[in-house]
Amino acid sequence: MPDAYSSSPSSWISWFLSSKGNEYFCEVEEDYILDRFNLTGLNTEVQHYAQALDMITDNLDEEIQDDLRGNLDLQARLLYGLIHARWIVTARGLAKMLEKYKRADFGRCPRVLCQSQPLLPVGLTDVPYEKSVKLYCGRCEDIYSPKSSRHGSIDGAYFGTSFPHLLFLVYPNLIPPKSGPVELALAGRGDVEGSRRSRRVRDEQETEGVGEGMSTASVALKADRYRPRIFGFQVNEIAKLQRWQEAVRDRQITRLEELEENA
Ligand SMILES: [Zn+2]
Repeated sequence: MPDAYSSSPSSWISWFLSSKGNEYFCEVEEDYILDRFNLTGLNTEVQHYAQALDMITDNLDEEIQDDLRGNLDLQARLLYGLIHARWIVTARGLAKMLEKYKRADFGRCPRVLCQSQPLLPVGLTDVPYEKSVKLYCGRCEDIYSPKSSRHGSIDGAYFGTSFPHLLFLVYPNLIPPKSGPVELALAGRGDVEGSRRSRRVRDEQETEGVGEGMSTASVALKADRYRPRIFGFQVNEIAKLQRWQEAVRDRQITRLEELEENA
């Protein structure tokens, strides 16, 4: 390994952040890392924990053997990632990630209707070495894989399963408007007959483009929805909305099946 992180003034963290492929990560403040309380439990997840910690805080003994250094480099990345997941859900960490979100550092939603909505990184599990990072769109509430393979191989546990939802909880004014579902919800409350009529029109439009030999219902049922969670619990309001949306979907499926049988 070149002594990239021993050459001052650049620290290990600034070297890590400027490495290609690490653009999703934000800087964890040194004060946070040096407060051992914040790192509780991580010593059991990282090998050579003390030296890995010394490495990311630039306190590593220069005389460390080269064969250990290679493994230590991996362990230091793992440790930084796990600390990062904890840091980005703190007030200061959320503020740092907010800057990156505003710059669209995590890319934009590929769905046309989302009008280039910036994405947020999310993990599908908080356990490292299980799932790579995904990108969450606050508008369509769906998740996507990063376009670049460098980003696609980042461990999702370095961002955690709660981050985007906590960000929107702390900054509710940033929750993007929901185009489709909200319109539907409003229509359902007022003129029932009118909305039923317009829904039927929408049903008929939506049946277009479905491949031959495949029933609309089977396609609709295949669409597996992403469920936002905060520390393992489903986000209450979103969960309610999703239950309502699923009830509407089920009713639409029944109607479509009837239509298809009669056709
Ligand atoms: Zn979207």
